[in-house]
Amino acid sequence: MTATKAQTRPTPQRTCVACGTTTNKRALIRIVRTADGIVADSTGKMAGRGSYVCGESACWDGALTKGRLEHSLKTKLTTKDADALRAYAATHSGGGQ
Ligand SMILES: [Zn+2]
Repeated sequence: MTATKAQTRPTPQRTCVACGTTTNKRALIRIVRTADGIVADSTGKMAGRGSYVCGESACWDGALTKGRLEHSLKTKLTTKDADALRAYAATHSGGGQ
């Protein structure tokens, strides 16, 4: 029997721009800077400079209101983009009331 070496791919690790926690890329939401503004990348495959934020609402707060995302993406976050990202976060963080 030939020993089959399992194709173990290391899970990519990414860091949340708000809290600095490094974790499994899949546990984070990717935010991408595109020509149309800053958008949440649900596929994780969009081209552009990307940053990651955890699913914690506190992190979205820090990323959106404390300029951490802007700083990370080196661009300005418009109110419209921030609103869209907040809405996206609300449906993906599982929080809310
Ligand atoms: Zn975080």
